[in-house]
Amino acid sequence: MIYLDNAATTALSETARNAMEPYLSGYYGNPSSIYRFGQEARKAVEESRQTIASLLRVSPREIYFTGGGTESDNWAISSVVLERALKKEKSAHLITSTIEHPAVLRTCSFFESLGVKVSRIPVDKEGFLNLEILEKVLQEESFLRKTEESSRCLISVMAANNEIGTIENLKEIGRLAKKYGAVFHTDAVQAFGQIPLDIEEMQIDLLSASSHKIHGPKGVGLLYIRKGLKLPSFLHGGAQERGLRAGTENVPGIVGFAAAAKEAFSTMEERGRKKVALRDLFFKRLLEEIPGAKISGVNPAEAEGIGESPESPFLSSLHHRLPGNVHICLPGVEGESVLLLLDQKGICASSGSACASGSLEPSHVLLAIGKSHEEAYSGLRLSLEETLTEEELEYTVRAIKEAVEKLRG
Ligand code: PLP
Repeated sequence: MIYLDNAATTALSETARNAMEPYLSGYYGNPSSIYRFGQEARKAVEESRQTIASLLRVSPREIYFTGGGTESDNWAISSVVLERALKKEKSAHLITSTIEHPAVLRTCSFFESLGVKVSRIPVDKEGFLNLEILEKVLQEESFLRKTEESSRCLISVMAANNEIGTIENLKEIGRLAKKYGAVFHTDAVQAFGQIPLDIEEMQIDLLSASSHKIHGPKGVGLLYIRKGLKLPSFLHGGAQERGLRAGTENVPGIVGFAAAAKEAFSTMEERGRKKVALRDLFFKRLLEEIPGAKISGVNPAEAEGIGESPESPFLSSLHHRLPGNVHICLPGVEGESVLLLLDQKGICASSGSACASGSLEPSHVLLAIGKSHEEAYSGLRLSLEETLTEEELEYTVRAIKEAVEKLRG
C-alpha cells in the first residue's frame, strides 16, 4: 500500500508511542493530586510544556494544552469575542481569509449569526491573502474606532493551507496587525514542525497547533497565548491550564505530543528537503504525463524569487508551498473517481480536506482561488512523507495517468 493521504501520514511515531507508554500504564495519576503518581504526571506535563515552549522559543507560561487544533482555533476566536462581551464593549470584529479550515470559518460564521462582524479577505489564484484589502479593512476599523465605541479586531489567518499548501506571509500580516492594534491569531496546524515559525518576528499573539500532524497522538494540541494578552477562560471548572482551560489533562497525549514535536523540529530541514524534492518531481512528472493537469496553488517551478528569506534558506527553498503538499486538478474527471481507481492499485490518496470529504460541495479553497465548480471537483491531493521512494512515485504517476485515461475515455 502506498499512503499519500493526510490521515495516513499522521500515524503515531515510535518515539511518541515510547514516550507515552509509562503514562498509559505506570503513571496514571491525576496531575492535580498530591500523591506521588499524580506528581509524576504533573512533572511530565510541565516538562512537555517546557519542551514545546523552547522549540517555539516562547515561555512555558504561554503554552496551553488543548484537545487539538479545532479546539485551539475555537478558543482563540471565542476568547476575543467573549472578552469584549464581558467588558460590555462593542463586539469584536473578526477578520479572516476565505481559505481557512472549517475550525476557523465555521467558528466565525457562528459568531456572525450572533451579530459579530466578520470580514473575509480574499486570496489570489495561488492562495495568498490580499494584503491590500486586509489593510483597507483595518484602516476602516481604526477610523470607526476614533468615531464610535471601541471595537477589537482579531485577524485569524492560517500559516499554511491544508489543501493547497500555500504558506502565507505571516510576517507582513503580523506587521499590519500591530500597526492597527489588532490581535493576530494563526492556525499553524499544518505548519507546526514542518516549516520554521518565528512567533516574535511574525508578531503572532495566538497560535494553534495539533499533535497528530507531526506523528503525535490524536486529540491533543496547543494554543500559544502571548504573555500580557488577557483573555477569559475557555472551559470553566477546575484550575488546570492556569485556570483558562479546565479539565483533567490528557497526560499521555501531552507527553506524546512533546516527544513528537522534539523529533519533528530536530529533523525538520532534513525531512523537508527530501519532501520538497519529491513534491517537485511529482509535479513535473504529473504535468508531463497527464494532458491538461493543472497545479493548484503555487507552482514551485515558477515561484523562483518570490518572498526570498535570506535569513532562512530552507524557508526560501520551499517556494511558499508546504514541503509535502501536492495538489492538482485533472480536467474532465472527478477526483473521487480517480481515488477509487487508485485504491484498486494500492494507493491511498485524497480529493481534498478530510474534514470536508463526504460532502457534496466542492472545496471552498479551490473555489476561493478561482477554480470553476467543475475544476474544483477534479482535485486530487497527495500528502507526501519523506520515506516515499522514486519507484513508488513513478508507480503512482502511472496509476493516475491510467485512471485519468480510463475516466476520460
Ligand atoms: N486547522 C487546519 C489547518 C487543519 O488542517 C486541521 C486538521 O486537519 C485542523 C485545523 C483541525 O485540527 P484537529 O484535527 O487537531 O482538530
